[in-house]
Amino acid sequence: MARFALIALGILILFFLFRWAFGSSSQKAENPDATEMVKDPNCRMYVPKPEAIRTTIQGDELFFCSEKCAEEYKNKQASAR
Ligand SMILES: [Zn+2]
Repeated sequence: MARFALIALGILILFFLFRWAFGSSSQKAENPDATEMVKDPNCRMYVPKPEAIRTTIQGDELFFCSEKCAEEYKNKQASAR
């Protein structure tokens, strides 16, 4: 009878471990959107996507740390051609 109780306890622990594992993985799936980092191609700095300046240059969506960096990058692109 003691062995049966141990097996039941083991199943219970496994159940909680699975629930914990699946619970935390679903939370991880929500987080990357909120804290996604984008690279500023001008100063090579990583900026959180919601705080980044979003610009489309020649069909490419680019993210910058500031308006100043966006302008600098646009000028570099213009002078390169
Ligand atoms: Zn920058």
